[in-house]
Amino acid sequence: MTIKTANLGFPRIGSHRELKFALERYWAGKIERQDLLDVAARLRAENWAAQKARGIQIIPSNDFSLYDQVLDTSVLVGAVPPAYGWKGGPVDLDTYFAMARGSTASTCASGCTHSGPDGGNPAQEMTKWFDTNYHYMVPEFSDDQRFELTRNAPLEAFLEAKALGHVTRPVLLGPVTFLKLGKAHAGAFDTIDLIERLLPAYAQLLTELANAGVEWVQIDEPCLVLDLDERERRALALTYRTFASEIPQLKIMLATYFGAIGDNLPKALSLPIAGLHLDLVRAPQQLEVLLQTAPAQLVLSLGVVDGRNLWRTDLAGLYRRLQPLIEAHGRDRIELAPSCSLLHVPIDLDLERALDPELASWLAFALQKLDELSLLARAFEPGLANPEQVFARSIAAAEARLTSLKVHDPLVAGRLKNLTAADSRRQSGFATRRRLQEDRLALPLFPTTTIGSFPQTPEVRQARSLHAKGELSYVDYLAYLRQETEKAVRWQEEIGIEVLVHGEFERNDMVQYFGEQLSGYAFTQSGWVQSYGSRYVRPPIIFGDVSRPNPMTVDWATYAQSLTGKPMKGMLTGPVTMLQWSFVRDDLPRSIVCRQIALALRDEVTDLETAGIAVIQIDEPALREGLPLRQADRNAYLDWAVECFRISASGVGDETQIHTHMCYSEFNDIMAAIAAMDADVISIETSRSKMELLGAFTDQAYPNEIGPGVYDIHSPRVPSVDEMVHLIEKATDGLTPAQIWVNPDCGLKTRRWEEVRPALVNMVQAAQALRQSF
Ligand code: GLN
Ligand code: ZN
Repeated sequence: MTIKTANLGFPRIGSHRELKFALERYWAGKIERQDLLDVAARLRAENWAAQKARGIQIIPSNDFSLYDQVLDTSVLVGAVPPAYGWKGGPVDLDTYFAMARGSTASTCASGCTHSGPDGGNPAQEMTKWFDTNYHYMVPEFSDDQRFELTRNAPLEAFLEAKALGHVTRPVLLGPVTFLKLGKAHAGAFDTIDLIERLLPAYAQLLTELANAGVEWVQIDEPCLVLDLDERERRALALTYRTFASEIPQLKIMLATYFGAIGDNLPKALSLPIAGLHLDLVRAPQQLEVLLQTAPAQLVLSLGVVDGRNLWRTDLAGLYRRLQPLIEAHGRDRIELAPSCSLLHVPIDLDLERALDPELASWLAFALQKLDELSLLARAFEPGLANPEQVFARSIAAAEARLTSLKVHDPLVAGRLKNLTAADSRRQSGFATRRRLQEDRLALPLFPTTTIGSFPQTPEVRQARSLHAKGELSYVDYLAYLRQETEKAVRWQEEIGIEVLVHGEFERNDMVQYFGEQLSGYAFTQSGWVQSYGSRYVRPPIIFGDVSRPNPMTVDWATYAQSLTGKPMKGMLTGPVTMLQWSFVRDDLPRSIVCRQIALALRDEVTDLETAGIAVIQIDEPALREGLPLRQADRNAYLDWAVECFRISASGVGDETQIHTHMCYSEFNDIMAAIAAMDADVISIETSRSKMELLGAFTDQAYPNEIGPGVYDIHSPRVPSVDEMVHLIEKATDGLTPAQIWVNPDCGLKTRRWEEVRPALVNMVQAAQALRQSF
């Protein structure tokens, strides 16, 4: 018997982003429904063929989605909130997209409640899929929720593949994870309690699959890598016992990923399942325990190729580790697989034309990862004289990467070694700094500011793209950006904002802009991964030691400051965010890579100070999303994340004011860490929660200054003066007036000037009104 290779899921977007373009054309009314479905079918056919061509034996189906696999599951089992007007039976495409993106009065299905701002319905809530950058649509359940199998889409996908000559393993999101990820309408009950009502729909689906000749299904229960409570564990037992008794002939490969199954392993092994998949990239130590404790007949899917990152696997090392264990425990029950679905990596390295060839030789995108699995399986073929010969190229790449001067910079290593505790401490405590900063900045009560970016208008984006294509000279591009900056500065002065920003017109993206100027970062041309729906991102690659060859923002900051007598904020992306939104090298701990970035940013911060910039903002919107999935790992992460922020911020004198910005609304559980960052001022998102999240921020828990966003920049609505006054008054419940800044929720780059102008004029008036009454 040879060892099998399996894939858990393939990227659905198309190597040339075909899905995005088809979706957008469909939404714009430029193509018909059938045209969109044809593109989707073509992509599925290509993906199946590509996986087969790469030698994968177990190929998934139903891993494709027009928007999101969690939304697909909601629709599959009829979890469609009443507002969308669905009346039972198959859910039509427009209702599906209304749930994904919201609807307007004209696109709303008949029967929808028209409760949204444009006479349609708002989209379902969206949130991050575990610790990835993929966002799913949050299922919403009512307390009288009924489930039904609306249309057996997984069966249709299986049959579609079969007609093309592929016998696939359908992928389903497991019922327990599905319920756990969902939310109860009005928060009134525990969603897990719906399990008994949900199971019949799943059982019917599985029965139909089995009747159609499906032998194996892959059921994803990534919730098994989280801390589970007793109810959730009981729900798992109930689910898989039900499936085993109702569809005994169907074999279930239960897949977990994104971390260690840990204390949930005994539970998983006690379930009546035919196979178990574990993520052995995130948690390699699980291999031995698994092999020793798994029942003899259980098929084991070993997730050994990294589905979350784009580095080539050290196949020789992996083979040496696997070989003795596999021989001892029975090779005929082993499947080799990626750690998780390949959804989270770009599709094809061969499309990259501009990457440094040496760097490219260290990488593997989805298709190359499938090649790796096939190679690894080949090495296990009986009778192969020298298995490691199979890995010659992989070995050469690993050796080159280990010693390359592109990766290892002794200066960076030296700086890191010399870091001391003093480097992550400001010179004095906040009370002293505050006095000095007050003297220097002379700001009124309730000072106003914005978060950094002003509208990236079509004109700004066009100038950037013309410049990139070589059709607009650097000098002309620069002149244009300066003119935009000057207009923004003049206008802020005119309406009376206290601490100004330059507007970030020169920036393509808050990570890319810095990554392009740092050593150790690289960028792809076609390395797209799905962030949500039709939104894809191309995360940078941190491949080597990070350093800053030249100042990055000092010219823009000093230019903008030269235009005004008011303080101009320097604007930087923080080290944790720079890390979090990139593919990070896997040969160093993330904490070390983050410290390197922190040191590079520290140089920028001190250069800004030297250039006369008195207020510097270091954005950390991604700090929270880096939180490990398991409670027990969180403090260690927060310790180094906070330390990195502090390293970047602590090179300046007491009289320089450091701001930070975060745009999410859950702080309760990380309040101590947020306070420990010790920024002089933090601005946060609050307006969507009507200041409720401020509960965490009292002057007790948070002694420094804080700007609770008073204007929801995600909406085109212009908030009134009264509304903003009211929000700030609410903030004074727990905070002292002297702590409070007045600012929007986030940067304004996605808004239009027509919305921004009146909103900020109102915001300044609100601050002025408040000064009268305090
Ligand atoms: N300074 C950035 C901006 O205003 C912050 C963006 C963010 O928080 N995501 O655009
Ligand atoms: Zn923000």
